[in-house]
Amino acid sequence: MAEKLDKPIGLTAKPTRSQEFYDSVKRKYAEERDLRLKYRPNGLSQYTSELSGTLAKYEVDTYAEAVTPRKPLNDTVECLFIGGGFSALLTSARLRQVGVESIRIVERGADVGGTWYWNRYPGVACDVVSYDYLPLLDELDYVPKDHYAGGPEIFAHCKAIAKKYNLYELATFQTTVTATVWNEAEQMWHVATDRGDQMKARFVICANGILTKPKLAKIKGLETFKGHSFHTSRWDYAYTKPDLSGLEDKVVGIIGTGATAVQAVPGLGAAAKELYVFQRTPSSIDIRDDWPTDPNWARKLINNNKPMVLVAMYPAGVIAGILVIMTNKSFAALGGLFIIAGAIVYLVGIFSIKAAMEEYYNWTEKMGLQMSGAMTFFFSTIYIQYHVNRIARWKKTGVIS
Ligand SMILES: Cc1cc2nc3c(=O)[nH]c(=O)nc-3n(C[C@H](O)[C@H](O)[C@H](O)COP(=O)(O)OP(=O)(O)OC[C@H]3O[C@@H](n4cnc5c(N)ncnc54)[C@H](O)[C@@H]3O)c2cc1C
Repeated sequence: MAEKLDKPIGLTAKPTRSQEFYDSVKRKYAEERDLRLKYRPNGLSQYTSELSGTLAKYEVDTYAEAVTPRKPLNDTVECLFIGGGFSALLTSARLRQVGVESIRIVERGADVGGTWYWNRYPGVACDVVSYDYLPLLDELDYVPKDHYAGGPEIFAHCKAIAKKYNLYELATFQTTVTATVWNEAEQMWHVATDRGDQMKARFVICANGILTKPKLAKIKGLETFKGHSFHTSRWDYAYTKPDLSGLEDKVVGIIGTGATAVQAVPGLGAAAKELYVFQRTPSSIDIRDDWPTDPNWARKLINNNKPMVLVAMYPAGVIAGILVIMTNKSFAALGGLFIIAGAIVYLVGIFSIKAAMEEYYNWTEKMGLQMSGAMTFFFSTIYIQYHVNRIARWKKTGVIS
């Protein structure tokens, strides 16, 4: 369960270095920042996300069909999300788990996914280990294919989350929220969009991200450039072709060498007739040490029910022992042996699910229960039997992260 994942199990995070060390790191970062700002005093004003007039084409959704007219919405929902990326998906899933039914996602794009809907440039991938980055892996019973997931896999995962938690039912795509006004008398948000909707919601959750608008460098002549150009977050596959064969006879230039270019350049270099990489500030680049997920490791995560089998053997041992004693008193020693063996296996099981015991004690503490050793033994057996499957999955997440 979510609340358990947040709690370190048997670990306490202690800083391993002195405060002076951390202060010196902070000082170094501040120095480097000031150095950069000195070179580029115009800061963010070097860029624009105001994409109107001749620049409007850079914002067109290249992945969607033309917007089909629909009637404006004027209904009321419990929770309304602005945006349909991971923030909205994960929060919606948790809301569903606590019984919230009426959830609407309002998204500018034509599907959920956010960052992973918009960014489909060749080579797009996550630079955080996939088992850490992708949310709700347990709930979806999904193990990522690689150590670092590619963009298409992440986008597919977003869609799978929306499907599993029935988030498509009320979602509205190709729709941009333009106003949210709180109505005190109704205790409701009044939400307006660019499609003429006038919806109401008890809760509005801003999950609109910070990186979803293309940001262009203000380069002289951009407005009048006659060649074909687009932003990486609106990749024009109609022009390049999905396998980039459309670039075979083209001279291509890519501006910038940040994380996106690092991913896109190898594919572009291989496909284009010529590729020019325009680099103003070099970025630090390391080997992409990626590999496919080991299927044996993945299997172990899913079938981690050994502790359950071990713990279940205790009552089995006791019952077998009692039956043997009842059947024939002269086999009492054998019956006793069964009971002792069951208890030993049980202890091994308990040891291997220490986390379950910890949870059990948290539970008794929360309930304010004071139990004797025997009662603890009895109730913990029932409790652990009942929860052990969930704990095995919880352990699995522990292993992953
Ligand atoms: C190219 C790229 C690569 C990245 N790689 C990594 C990575 O490797 N590791 C990592 O940890 N993070 C990475 N990130 C950061 C990434 O954005 C976050 O990890 C995460 O996906 C953000 O999710 P979100 O739901 O908060 O926002 P987003 O995914 O940005 O989703 C917000 C959504 O809100 C929509 N929206 C915005 N305004 C409105 C409105 N008014 N009305 C309706 N809809 C609206 C947008 O269209 C968008 O779909 C990357 C980001 C980019 C751009």
